[in-house]
Amino acid sequence: MTKQQWLTDLKKTITGGQLLLDEPLSAYTKTQLGGHADLLVIPETADEMQETVRYAHDNGIPLLLLGNGSNMVVRDGGVRGIVLHPVRLDAISVEGTHVHAEAGAHIIDVSRAAAAAGLTGFEFACGIPGSVGGAMAMNAGAYGGEVNDIIVRSTLMDRTGRIFVLSKEELKLGYRKSIIADEGYFVLSSDFELTYGDQQEIDAKVADLTHQRESKQPLEYPSAGSVFKRPPGYFAGKLIQDSGLQGKGVGGAEVSTKHAGFIINKNNATATDYIRTIEMVQAEVKERFGVDLEREVKIVGEPAE
Ligand code: FAD
Repeated sequence: MTKQQWLTDLKKTITGGQLLLDEPLSAYTKTQLGGHADLLVIPETADEMQETVRYAHDNGIPLLLLGNGSNMVVRDGGVRGIVLHPVRLDAISVEGTHVHAEAGAHIIDVSRAAAAAGLTGFEFACGIPGSVGGAMAMNAGAYGGEVNDIIVRSTLMDRTGRIFVLSKEELKLGYRKSIIADEGYFVLSSDFELTYGDQQEIDAKVADLTHQRESKQPLEYPSAGSVFKRPPGYFAGKLIQDSGLQGKGVGGAEVSTKHAGFIINKNNATATDYIRTIEMVQAEVKERFGVDLEREVKIVGEPAE
């Protein structure tokens, strides 16, 4: 089957959403680099998402879920198969202390909606540039809070298109991991439980965390955030800093001089530059300190031909 055939077939069921052949994924990822998707599907509804998942499953087509692309590096050869990007499933609702959000909603917007309703508990996410689905898959967290603290349940889809609900316990959220990532499930929506707080304190916390982020992170450059997980007993950024790697890199990629845990796309980097810089950092830190830095960032797709 050719990708043109996938397009023709899916056009029959995906009538509201978009189907984009050979779409450059650099426009959809925060590193702004990497190759094309054979076919990018942007569903309008959960039904269209389900149709796409079923079609890929029934025809043995590889399927990758792309959220907000803030923790993903796409190799220069691009992604074979279908890339599903549920960015239009972005509804957010607040009822009392309960927040419901669809997979494609920006977690920053969910955090804002909670704060605007006088709810506390979601402030930690005020600067995390991911989607609800990506934040669930990664158990995103910052400044002492994480998704696991506030999640009640998630509605998921497996790779056959079956929809089911998992509770907080069943989601098995750990440090930057979840059953969602382990089993390759797709998040459709999530429910969070918060508590009423003092509006001034909530606003002050959001302002403080925003200031900390802006002053410490190289937000003026494209990046995938912190590239490495925190190794037990160490801080990745400190190890990288102490290895003298800041300002170093391969091609257009560079270890940030502002935050050693970030690798930035400084000057039209290719994915190969970015990945080689990751490998350079891992090798140097291993040699100097004997510590293995495990990647937090997901690398997907094919190498350049
Ligand atoms: P993607 O990058 O699109 O995907 C990441 C993984 O999640 C992939 O495996 C993907 O397949 C999977 N995924 C995405 N959507 C779904 C879905 N609907 N269902 C199932 N799987 C899905 N992270 C933190 O934890 N804390 C931080 O403070 C933080 N700060 C950051 C700052 C910057 C400047 C940047 C660029 C990134 C930062 N990140 C941080 C990383 C990133 O924002 C989070 O990991 C985020 O949760 C990823 O969400 P995403 O939608 O962008 O996922």
